[in-house]
Amino acid sequence: MVDAVEAADPNCVFCQIVARTAPAYIVYEDEEALAFLDIFPFTRGHLLVIPKHHVPRLTDLPESEHAAYLRALAKVCRRAERLSSDYNIALNQGAKAGQIVFHLHFHVIPRYGEGNPFHSRPRDRLPEAEARALVAALSAP
Ligand code: 5GP
Ligand code: ZN
Repeated sequence: MVDAVEAADPNCVFCQIVARTAPAYIVYEDEEALAFLDIFPFTRGHLLVIPKHHVPRLTDLPESEHAAYLRALAKVCRRAERLSSDYNIALNQGAKAGQIVFHLHFHVIPRYGEGNPFHSRPRDRLPEAEARALVAALSAP
């Protein structure tokens, strides 16, 4: 395992979340991965699942770490199923594909039967009370 602190990019907000120097509503953590609420959610309970050390893209993640990352993703998905059995998993790779944070992250986006939430309309910031309720619902193993 690569040490997350040693492998951090000081300018990367997700590395700062791993280091706890930036705030986040964290719902899952293990040795190698972290999951937290997206601050501009597409839907209620929109989560991001990251490896703890800084790699921009899936193809930068050492193969020896694939299994642990996928295991964490599946665990977080199981928790997302507390909100809805239906959800999208998305991975934007590169600016032209919509990637704005260049630290690898899967999106887990619960779906509730709403219309397409992915249109590029401005998204509202996650309200604090809702974030707290979601952390309570999703943090328990
Ligand atoms: P991307 O477009 O790179 O695939 O997705 C980046 C996601 O990270 C976006 O959905 C955006 O709302 C979210 N995001 C950006 N900055 C922060 C932050 O500081 N904290 C949290 N929790 N989410 C962030
Ligand atoms: Zn990073």
